[in-house]
Amino acid sequence: MKCPGQDTRHWKPGDIFEVKCPSCGVLIEFFKDDIRRRCKDCKKQVTNPKIDLGCIEWCKFAEQCVGPEVMKKKSKKK
Ligand SMILES: [Zn+2]
Repeated sequence: MKCPGQDTRHWKPGDIFEVKCPSCGVLIEFFKDDIRRRCKDCKKQVTNPKIDLGCIEWCKFAEQCVGPEVMKKKSKKK
């Protein structure tokens, strides 16, 4: 689920953070380029609220990377 256009070597400490599962409240560790992770507790898919999707504007792997539903959401905002 890693975008080929991103490299963890350039990351800052704040680029890894914890997000509360909206369903059960357990903390899930997110990397800034994680689109979604599965909660280890309730097994629900949790979408990264801080995801920086700047790269999907230009990345040719974007649709495979984030999936068509995120692409749709992104274009709705504009
Ligand atoms: Zn959960």
